[in-house]
Amino acid sequence: MRPIVATISQSALQHNLSVVKKHTPNAKVMAVVKANGYGHGLLNVAHSLHAAEGFAVLGISEAITLREAGFKQTILLLEGVFNASELAAVENYNLDIVVHSKYQLEMLVNANMRHAVHVHLKMNTGMNRLGFAPQNYAAAYHALASHHHVAGVTLMTHFATADNAQGIAAPLDLFQHTIHDLPDNLPISLANSATILRYSDLTADWVRPGIMLYGATPVSNVPATDYGLQPVMQLRSEIIGVQTLAVGDSVGYGNRFTADKNMRVGIVACGYADGYPRQAGLLGGEYPTITPIAVSDKVTSTLGRVSMDMLFCDLTNIPEADIGSEVELWGNQIAVDAVAEAAGTVGYELLCAVSPRVPVQLVD
Ligand SMILES: *Cc1c(COP(=O)(O)O)cnc(C)c1O
Repeated sequence: MRPIVATISQSALQHNLSVVKKHTPNAKVMAVVKANGYGHGLLNVAHSLHAAEGFAVLGISEAITLREAGFKQTILLLEGVFNASELAAVENYNLDIVVHSKYQLEMLVNANMRHAVHVHLKMNTGMNRLGFAPQNYAAAYHALASHHHVAGVTLMTHFATADNAQGIAAPLDLFQHTIHDLPDNLPISLANSATILRYSDLTADWVRPGIMLYGATPVSNVPATDYGLQPVMQLRSEIIGVQTLAVGDSVGYGNRFTADKNMRVGIVACGYADGYPRQAGLLGGEYPTITPIAVSDKVTSTLGRVSMDMLFCDLTNIPEADIGSEVELWGNQIAVDAVAEAAGTVGYELLCAVSPRVPVQLVD
């Protein structure tokens, strides 16, 4: 069998949930498990995080998977329903829905329903993605709150700049000002990972952590370990070939790396078809920048272009490494965020992009 595997650490997930609880001890946790649990496997994550009070997903099918696996928590559809026919499953499986636009509100009030559903009413506080404009928010609230298809309303927004210097002051102010005249006992759902980690004094009934649960950073210049987070996924493979290079020899497509000394090169069974970013190391232009990789527990770097099924790494200073040696693409020694940075992206994207051909294995 091809030696690649992504192991998912249950204890790291639980530890990272405890970091959420430490920052926002009074809030209920809506663990965001969209995108197949950020690539970690929806049920792997949900079972490990069974202590969370809720789960947030994107699609009905993910929500049904969770209900059928026995999860009794609140399950929220983060973008609500995409068409009215999905409301039948919302009722049957007792799901919460986001309502972010007038057309969704109309679908809900005009539907043929036997049970009332709980609505998370989303406000656009400046991201300009989904959500009611502040000036239309109170009207949307009253239309829902008075309707017999609605069991209750949670007030919700999502911050666009929680991870940078702009911060959340202005959008939070707008949110609070807009809800000022609504009943003051309504639950409030606010915070993504960056907000939780950077604004612990925030009060909310629900927080919505995603990336921090998986042990990657939501803030580009702050390593996840600085927040006390533990990496959850370890993407591992092995050396399946070794080459020796003389001065002037090159490796890989396009001869993008040429040795300026005698070198030993390892061929790793992992490529872009596994989800490893092909851009990694190519950002420097003609000569590759360095992407870290660990072989036999030692940190070295990749070389040349990533192929579909393989990539190259420098074994010159790891003489003990040979065919069958353990490789960590990311995980405990190599932060996924470090590989992401070398590829000009964020850890989120790499985790979500691990391809279905990589076996995923839940470990303690
Ligand atoms: C994805 C998502 C989150 C989680 O964001 P992280 O940055 O991964 O913590 C929270 N809220 C909403 C509305 C989302 O779409």
